Amino acid sequence: MVQFEHSESESGAMTSKTSSVNGEAAKRKDGEKRSKKKSKKSGLHRSSKRRHSISKAARDPRDEPESPPPKKSKKEEGAVTRSPSPVIDFDGLSRPSTGTRARAEETPEQAAQRLERMRGAVRTLLECVGEDPDREGLLDTPARYAKALLFFTQGYQQNVRDIVNNAIFHEGHNEMVVIKGIEVFSMCEHHMVPFTGQMHIGYIPSHSVIGLSKLPRIADMFSRRLQIQERLTKEVANAIMEILQPQGVAVVMESSHLCMVMRGVEKSSATTITSCVLGCFERKEKTRNEFLSLVGLNRH
Ligand SMILES: [Zn+2]
Repeated sequence: MVQFEHSESESGAMTSKTSSVNGEAAKRKDGEKRSKKKSKKSGLHRSSKRRHSISKAARDPRDEPESPPPKKSKKEEGAVTRSPSPVIDFDGLSRPSTGTRARAEETPEQAAQRLERMRGAVRTLLECVGEDPDREGLLDTPARYAKALLFFTQGYQQNVRDIVNNAIFHEGHNEMVVIKGIEVFSMCEHHMVPFTGQMHIGYIPSHSVIGLSKLPRIADMFSRRLQIQERLTKEVANAIMEILQPQGVAVVMESSHLCMVMRGVEKSSATTITSCVLGCFERKEKTRNEFLSLVGLNRH
């Protein structure tokens, strides 16, 4: 059963609904949600509240915080630069983090300074793992790693409007459109190591269709940043819903997390599957099943 975790959602700002591949709507009740929130606050073991699923998300008991995380003050939450829109900000940035605009507006000198700070940090890491950052093979590694990391997180800087670039066409087409097997490379925000896999996106237009190449680019934009797979899946679905306003959107992602496979938490063949269905995909089991068969996930 595919399970979509609500526990990682951003304080209910998202509108996505939980769904499972076998067609059953999520049966989580409000009361259950409330008790979950409560238990989170009191710092109880989070995974004990997790529902059983065949594919566990990339969490490991070793990663559980020893003490409950400090509560965010309301002031901090209010400082996030976000419009009422759940995914895309007023200027086309999607879920900008605190440094996104600073990075977008910085001067070449500031960019050089930032790179220098990153190099210093990577050098420190090399020292701390017991390496000699001055040996020949590692001399340029801090700079290389810094640049690579900036590339892996470039999605923060990308603008949805530039990506879509008016490629929305009023075709009067109202049949399901599916793009299958979009390669996704993202970074787990808990360990800062990659998770990679495939994303399948389907939508049913409400007269308008989007240029097909745009969907992989939207997936790319949300994956090139620090993510958890659950949120990545949801953000892609919500963004398409917001940009295109179709009858519905379905996104399924299957991926392998290096933080699991490299540490031996699970067998290396383990994949994590997440899904997010909105609109008619959420309401109609038949539509959802059609999508799942098209992407090869309907195992009934
Ligand atoms: Zn991880």
